[in-house]
Amino acid sequence: MLYTRLIEMNLYEYQAKELFRKYNIPVPAGKHIESPSNLQWDKFPVVVKAQVLVGGRGKAGGIKFANDQKELLDKTREILSMTIKGLKVNSVYLEEKLDIAKEYYVSITLDRSKRRPIIMATTSGGVEIEDVPDEKIVKYWIDPVIGYSNFIGKDISFKLKLPDNESKQFQAILAGMASLYNDYDAELVEINPLVVTKDGLIIAGDAKIIIDSDSLFRHKDIPENAAERTELEEIAYKRGYSLVELDGNIGVIANGAGLTMATLDGLTLKGGKPRNFLDLGGSDDVEKVVGAFEILKIAKPKGILINIFGGVTHCDTVAKGIIEAKKRVGIDVPIVVRLSGVNEDEGRKILSDNGIHSYGDMMDAINEIVKEVNKQ
Ligand code: GDP
Ligand code: MG
Repeated sequence: MLYTRLIEMNLYEYQAKELFRKYNIPVPAGKHIESPSNLQWDKFPVVVKAQVLVGGRGKAGGIKFANDQKELLDKTREILSMTIKGLKVNSVYLEEKLDIAKEYYVSITLDRSKRRPIIMATTSGGVEIEDVPDEKIVKYWIDPVIGYSNFIGKDISFKLKLPDNESKQFQAILAGMASLYNDYDAELVEINPLVVTKDGLIIAGDAKIIIDSDSLFRHKDIPENAAERTELEEIAYKRGYSLVELDGNIGVIANGAGLTMATLDGLTLKGGKPRNFLDLGGSDDVEKVVGAFEILKIAKPKGILINIFGGVTHCDTVAKGIIEAKKRVGIDVPIVVRLSGVNEDEGRKILSDNGIHSYGDMMDAINEIVKEVNKQ
């Protein structure tokens, strides 16, 4: 969820289900709607589903049922005015309501430690897979040289103890998922819930697909616009910063994606809660530093940690930026600075001349900001 948000391409449910159709994975009849003015639907009851790129929409109220045209209009309007986990809902997906008898789970994702795609399946679906006890999950690692073959589907259905009528359908779905995963350079293909209807049909109730964004050039049918940003992320993006919003209270400015991630890890390790990921990148520019503070000010953190390892970005430039920002942006929360690398001594002197103490060691700075914020 952190840095991955910058490099992965999540598909909306309606887009993912479009791909499912292409691979003969059964999905309910559905329609994507961006405005309540063109609401046309004639098969009730219907499910109205918020299209946002986060899980847990159901619990957040982003999935509602309607029994007639009037309810459909009301619920669509209601969902279109929602913000779920910081993301504004811009569209809904209408779907024929399924008569659910059972909810299963199935996914294919990359297991980086084993360097193989892993299939996970359980008959205890409908909840997040992290909440399912491990012994209830059937796992299968696909040998990338051999690829997927039908015996894998048979093996998994057997281990899930699926009845005969379900087993065939399940195998066809899994085979479709495996082809889709390969063809589209996916990092995740997930169906949760995989619904068994009262009539015994297996249908994808939900659909989640993540595609490696570096492969998008060879998937021209996937719209690049599917990335979704929070309001703050949009502001940062337009001003040329890569920022990911998080839900903590310590603002972070660092340079380099790796160091920024390490800063977030360090903060978390010491009990601090980062408010954001913000990578200054490799530019030696006072204004770029000031701009970062302007963005963080909108995020209203309780303290700001600056962690710089000087290289292309010189420490004295960052120090000047911090002083400028204090003057111009008006930052009234504690600022803790770690400077190391190119022009470290000059940078430190500029800060101490202005009454700001700085650290050379990252963990010292992290401990200090956590202490400062916990005091409040
Ligand atoms: P998520 O919460 O974002 O994962 O959204 P899902 O599409 O997985 O829906 C969440 C839950 O809503 C499902 O697990 C179902 O229990 C329920 N739900 C969704 N669609 C239907 C439907 O067509 N019929 C019924 N009865 N329940 C549904
Ligand atoms: Mg779901």
